[in-house]
Amino acid sequence: MARPTLVIIGQGAAGLAAALAAAEAAHESERDIIVTLIDKASEQEAGGNTRWSPSYMRMAAPDRIEPSFVRDVMQATRGAGDERYFTRLAEQAPATVAWIVSHGVKFHQPTYYLAKGPPRIQPVGGGPALLAALVEEAKRAGVAFRYRCAAQSLLHEDGRICGVALAGGETIRADAVVLASGGFQGNGAMMREHIGAGAETMRLISPGTSFATGDGIRMAHALGADLSGDWNGMHAEPVDARSKNSAPVVLVYPYGIVVDRTGRRFFDEGAGLVHETWEHFARHIHFKAPDSIVFAIIDSRLFAIEGYERAIRSEVPPARANTLAELAAQLGIDGKTLAQTVADYNAACIGDEKTFEPTRCDGLAAAPTLRPSKSNWARAIARPPFLGYPLVGAVAYTFGGLATDLRARVLRNGAPIPGLYAAGEITGHFHHTAPNAVAMLRALVFGRIAGREAAEFLAGNH
Ligand SMILES: Cc1cc2nc3c(=O)[nH]c(=O)nc-3n(C[C@H](O)[C@H](O)[C@H](O)COP(=O)(O)OP(=O)(O)OC[C@H]3O[C@@H](n4cnc5c(N)ncnc54)[C@H](O)[C@@H]3O)c2cc1C
Repeated sequence: MARPTLVIIGQGAAGLAAALAAAEAAHESERDIIVTLIDKASEQEAGGNTRWSPSYMRMAAPDRIEPSFVRDVMQATRGAGDERYFTRLAEQAPATVAWIVSHGVKFHQPTYYLAKGPPRIQPVGGGPALLAALVEEAKRAGVAFRYRCAAQSLLHEDGRICGVALAGGETIRADAVVLASGGFQGNGAMMREHIGAGAETMRLISPGTSFATGDGIRMAHALGADLSGDWNGMHAEPVDARSKNSAPVVLVYPYGIVVDRTGRRFFDEGAGLVHETWEHFARHIHFKAPDSIVFAIIDSRLFAIEGYERAIRSEVPPARANTLAELAAQLGIDGKTLAQTVADYNAACIGDEKTFEPTRCDGLAAAPTLRPSKSNWARAIARPPFLGYPLVGAVAYTFGGLATDLRARVLRNGAPIPGLYAAGEITGHFHHTAPNAVAMLRALVFGRIAGREAAEFLAGNH
């Protein structure tokens, strides 16, 4: 009899966790299973979003999740998420991180940008370190890797998965498949269809983001797989329009104001910590601001904020001028309106500036007459030089994807499709806003579950 074969599609965190877990499970049970991981990118580029992700994970410590984790995550989904799924995630997170540590990845607990918020841990070296360690360990465990190898469709016979057709025309045998090919943010037509007109021109936040073109979602859907998650939802962040860096976020906007080209404010820059406002803000920039660009305007007191550099990931210095008129001219903003906007804003900054505290919501609100309001960090913009950052919205990942159960099985009419698993961004579990620092954790936790389940399936135990 031919050796059972598991094919994993995608070499991000989810695919690697699945591959390594499956190879280990096969080894432990002394089963002879072939595990092959294919990726459509070259070896140097494979790794999708994972390769470019700082990979913060919402945990109190590597062995501990916050007691409020499930409640907080469900709140981010406004109650639309599957509570059992996030409970499983919380239960499995410490064991999964311990497993990653056992494969040579170290974790630390750095300050997250500037603002406080839920505690987060991070692999030392971020996504690239995680990727390198898991590839090496998976190879050592016997996983075969193939690059420049794009999956095109899933083959099935008598209701069972039997192979994967590749874009080049080749077919590879597969008795089970783990789909881990990411979301659809790199697919202009899908972005337009699900997120709306204009979404196809949205900047992709990192070079790896472009590889997620919804292939796995399409392949499983062709087999009748159920779809899930918020199809209009995506995680997006404000980035420096001029920067060539990956994810050049500029997260100091709460300490000043943001105007569009007409020189007008349009939202409460201090409505919450940056991870609570950035998604809505980035979306507004792209879909509503004239020319899809806005400008953060701050004064030189930024430099007195300890660690402010952590909140700016752009390599390009801000525009800088001694008068607002000069700054407006440099940035291409209507100078007269900007002067009026700043004057109105400054007049509304009536709170005690001594209570200004950049790392938490400080309650230093502008006068209630200010429109839009400013709920925190409302200090006058008065001390030159004045600084300006042009910002655009950049997408990191989409929320709509495949419906999966607690065992990472892909569902069809609510029942598992035998031999088909999925994990990571390809799965649809987020709604409304992304729960902060959860995407990477879910890719690892459910990737590992998918790998183990697939190995069990191939051993004939399911
Ligand atoms: C800049 C940035 C910062 C982030 N920061 C954080 C953070 O701090 N915390 C957090 O929790 N999350 C963060 N995220 C999100 C997180 O990194 C991702 O959710 C996670 O890496 C997704 O892993 P994945 O395995 O699902 O997909 P990916 O890592 O995107 O991997 C998908 C892989 O599938 C391959 N592929 C696609 N189509 C095919 C095909 N047809 N055939 C074969 N292969 C295919 C791609 O080439 C790619 O290698 C961030 C993301 C980015 C981009």
